[in-house]
Amino acid sequence: MSEEQQQEEAFRDRIATVNEKGKRIWVFPKKPKGRFYDRRKILSYFLLALIFIGPFIKIGEEPLLMLNIIKRKFVIFGQVFWPAEAYLFALGTIIMVVVVILFTLIFGRLFCGWVCPQTIFMEMLFRRIEYAIDGDWTEQKRLAKMPFKGVKLRKRLLKWFIFYAISFVIANFFLMYIIGYEEVFQIITDNPQDHVVGLIAIVAFSTVFFFVFLSFREQVCTVVCPYGRLQGVLLDKNSMVVAYDYVRGEKEKGRAKFNKKEDRATTGKGDCIDCGQCVHVCPTGIDIRNGTQLECVNCTACIDACDHMMDGVGMDRGLIRFASETQIKEGKKFKWSLKVKAYSAVMTILVIVFGILIFTRDDLQTKFQRVRGTTFTKAENGMITNMFKVNFFNKTNKDMNIQLEIDGVDAELYIIGDSIIVPKGDHYYGQIMIKADRSVLQRHKTPMNIKVFANGTLEETYEISFLGPK
Ligand code: SF4
Ligand code: SF4
Repeated sequence: MSEEQQQEEAFRDRIATVNEKGKRIWVFPKKPKGRFYDRRKILSYFLLALIFIGPFIKIGEEPLLMLNIIKRKFVIFGQVFWPAEAYLFALGTIIMVVVVILFTLIFGRLFCGWVCPQTIFMEMLFRRIEYAIDGDWTEQKRLAKMPFKGVKLRKRLLKWFIFYAISFVIANFFLMYIIGYEEVFQIITDNPQDHVVGLIAIVAFSTVFFFVFLSFREQVCTVVCPYGRLQGVLLDKNSMVVAYDYVRGEKEKGRAKFNKKEDRATTGKGDCIDCGQCVHVCPTGIDIRNGTQLECVNCTACIDACDHMMDGVGMDRGLIRFASETQIKEGKKFKWSLKVKAYSAVMTILVIVFGILIFTRDDLQTKFQRVRGTTFTKAENGMITNMFKVNFFNKTNKDMNIQLEIDGVDAELYIIGDSIIVPKGDHYYGQIMIKADRSVLQRHKTPMNIKVFANGTLEETYEISFLGPK
């Protein structure tokens, strides 16, 4: 490879925000504006409202979404899932992964730029506050070089204070999605000594968010986020991504500065006027003209910037646009690739299975098991007894009072110990004894049905095998 080619390909050696010595290159993105940015703002207002209202929305008695890893209780759309139903959670997660893969195959990384909370908070909240305090990118660059006193000190302190205050609010809401808003309110209103762990969690989360939005920023998307790292595997040449139309932009003679005295159409020069605006606005510091890169979060800021320049020089918009490699190279329209069809089929099957499992989900999980090593015992009065272990799992959010009844056979059932109360989302382990007269037993094994009632409602009928003499 020639030296020139090596230089051109240098962007592939390292991410845009790291120099050859491995040091961070700070990105000062130009304030974006344009039709896509306006749409993103509207969507982000909606999503921010959803994030901040979400913890207070209840379906029945349960929140819309709560992932309480401490109590091992997970609520999704008001439906409670307990650890015993981990298979449902696992299946739901697999479906989510397939949806993400399918979405990425078709629409690239659009989720990152338009929906991901990291981008929404960073670009639509923290970045805009930064523009308001520090000014646009050139002023920010100037400020960065200034000594840490006077104006810079005042601006920095103001920014840090506002950033930490917002991080604190986000941390509280984040915690609400884990333990519920009632508990978070308790933590912040009660005596601090009663909630030391909760308060430590809030401060820790606030500090992490503060660090992420003040300093770590786009590194979350380019270095940490596994979804971003998977782009190379997920995208194909039919995926719609934010792309530079190199066919139009470069033509035979490549990109060149705009010269209003020449008729560009006859020069063989590409439509890219090499203004660099697409690079200046990029929050991840890349040049989209180098092709699809893992740093690109599809925020579309470069589309707005380029469209603005194209308007200015009287050329058609869309030099950078949402398009696939096939569309740009061959001028072909989007088509469903075999990969997309295969993922769609897998996703449909998984969604159907998931729907059936949710639809047929029982409130109570029951298990009867003969006490290990036992068969039957003969009582003095000719009665035969069998001992069983019982196991109940209450999947609802209400305590269950369990009653057991033998159906069809004249036998008596005794619960060993107190009555069976299964707390919400919890287990009950115990033993029962069944006593039957030898005359009602037909064979060595007599099938018996046990009716299981929870709070007076028949939940299920469980068949056991009662052992007696041959
Ligand atoms: S290349 Fe364009 S779409 Fe991608 S992150 Fe940069 S500005 Fe956003
Ligand atoms: S904004 Fe458009 S015209 Fe300007 S450098 Fe980028 S691609 Fe070329």
